Amino acid sequence: MHKLLLRQLQQHCENAGLEYSQQPLLQAISNTYEEHELDRKALDESLFLTSKELNERTQLLRTQLQTLSQIQDQLQKSLTALNATFDATGEIILSLDNLGRLVKSNKMGKELLPEIAKYEGRQQAISWQNVHKMLLNPWHLTEIVDSLQKQPKINLKGTLHFTNGRIFEYHSLPQLQNNLLIGRVWCLRDVTEEKKIEEFIHHQAYHDLLTGLPNRHFLLEKIDAIIKDNPEKDKKLAVIFIDLDNFKKVNDTDGHEAGDKLLRIATKRMRNCVRDGDILARLGGDEFLILIESPISQSGLTRMCSNILDTLKKPFLLNNHNHFISCSMGISIYPRDDTVPDGLIGKADMAMYRAKKLGKNNFQFYSEELERLALHQLEFENNLRVAINKQQISIQLQPEINITTGKIVAAEALARWTMADGTVIPPTQFIPVAEQANLIGEIGRLVFDKVCKEISRWKRHGINDITVAINLSAREFKDSELVNNIHRKMLEHAIDGEKIVLEITESLFMEDKESVLRTMNQLRDIGIRFAIDDFGTGYSSFSYLQDLPIDYLKIDRSFLIGVTENKKKYAIARSIIDIGNHLDLKVIAEGIEDQETLDFIISNQCAMAQGFFMHNPLSTDDFFALLIKDRATK
Ligand code: C2E
Ligand code: MG
Ligand code: MG
Repeated sequence: MHKLLLRQLQQHCENAGLEYSQQPLLQAISNTYEEHELDRKALDESLFLTSKELNERTQLLRTQLQTLSQIQDQLQKSLTALNATFDATGEIILSLDNLGRLVKSNKMGKELLPEIAKYEGRQQAISWQNVHKMLLNPWHLTEIVDSLQKQPKINLKGTLHFTNGRIFEYHSLPQLQNNLLIGRVWCLRDVTEEKKIEEFIHHQAYHDLLTGLPNRHFLLEKIDAIIKDNPEKDKKLAVIFIDLDNFKKVNDTDGHEAGDKLLRIATKRMRNCVRDGDILARLGGDEFLILIESPISQSGLTRMCSNILDTLKKPFLLNNHNHFISCSMGISIYPRDDTVPDGLIGKADMAMYRAKKLGKNNFQFYSEELERLALHQLEFENNLRVAINKQQISIQLQPEINITTGKIVAAEALARWTMADGTVIPPTQFIPVAEQANLIGEIGRLVFDKVCKEISRWKRHGINDITVAINLSAREFKDSELVNNIHRKMLEHAIDGEKIVLEITESLFMEDKESVLRTMNQLRDIGIRFAIDDFGTGYSSFSYLQDLPIDYLKIDRSFLIGVTENKKKYAIARSIIDIGNHLDLKVIAEGIEDQETLDFIISNQCAMAQGFFMHNPLSTDDFFALLIKDRATK
């Protein structure tokens, strides 16, 4: 029986004086009690379990809630970071959905493209037509739309030029979610300044700073492109190579600023001579080139070149005085003369060179004949090189006599080139080539050495009163070693400077006066004297006679030929002698071929004479023999 019931029954019986007996009813009640007890226990247990489970769940939920809140926090942070980045970037970012509606734009987008950013959050798609109107290259937008229609998931990039002058580089990426296209992100970067710098650098690389003209680089690429575009070679092209004559003189006399100014003025003048579409370029220094692409006849080219010659001949007013230049031009034609850019320019250059040789201030068309001439020149140059090495250069000495005494007082050393077969080439032919080929220095040293040997030979025979005149080209004057070389040779042969006269020509006055004067003074310091050769034929300037240390003046032969019959020549020759005498210079008349001319110079108090009438140039041995004879008749 259920304990509680038993206890209650026993209590009740005891209290009532009844005897306790286990009756079936009671047993049933007891059972019920026990069952109830069991149920309650089971309920308790179940309640206990439920409450435990609930507690656990609550705990789990709490943890999950915490995690969620942390995640939310992190998400919030990421979002703010993303938004900040979105706005902080220098690029415009536009996020569009599949319908072309602007979902989001960043700060930059709102600032730089407000017309587009205003669509943000609207139900309305961005109007492509409006964007079209904003572009300088609207066709590009049409291309973009077309390619997106064909391949919606494509990555795109390119450049958009806006009508407001800005240039944007764009990148466009598809926005995918679970591999489904949900929109597109556009990043646009303002590259206007970058492009400007790029353009500037490009311009610098292809243009000449001084004149603003295209440069050699530009030209070569341009000609190359034209030639490549014309595989049939049915298009003609003309190239005019222009080189200014005597430009260096302006630089030397008036400085580089004046030179630069002249180049700019010359550029303007030449520009007026070319047609629209022709390209005038500067190759460097005083070299220009005109590239003519559009059809032009030979006579058209001739006219253009003549106009350029005329316009450049006009005076250039620099530093308050007029300068005069001219130009030499060479023309080559594609495809007739050459089919590659370098070759075409080279051939025009060759023709220009010919124009220079023909006396400057003219133009020449390239021809094969001209090339043969150039080749001949090259061969001549090489032969001259060999001649120098093989000692084929010798000297002759032409006596110069004192007019008063009739005695030989000096000699002029004249270079001779005797070839292996005995042919003698005159200096008028090989000296200019030697000057151009940079061989004049070697010839000069050779002549000087031979002269020194002759002077010491005479000295050994007791003849010590002859001076020798040596011709010196203007180019030799530029050699910084000139003075040292001369001095060394003089010491080597124990020769006094007084025995040497250097003949310089007026062309030297075109060079930098300061440096010419410095060299002359250094040579004077070692006793050497100077004569101006061919006086009156070149750039005669009395200021040079006054400023430079000169002792002799040689009247050019051209003033003396027929001097007695020609009034003008008579006047010029007399005046030159007068000027020389008044300046205390010894005047030497060269090229005396007859008695009349000799009489003329005698009566005009010329100091010395030289010419075939008295003596031809002689071999060193013949001259030595003549000297001995001359002394014997003293
Ligand atoms: P230049 O200095 O005026 O020399 C005088 C030239 O006149 C020489 O010609 C001489 O032979 C020539 N000559 C002399 N008397 C007469 C005459 O009565 N009638 C005629 N028709 N001619 C006469 P060459 O020897 O042919 O020399 C020509 C030029 O070559 C020289 O002119 C000089 O400028 C240059 N030259 C000669 N040797 C040298 C040299 O060693 N170095 C340099 N740099 N130039 C030289
Ligand atoms: Mg001379
Ligand atoms: Mg002369």
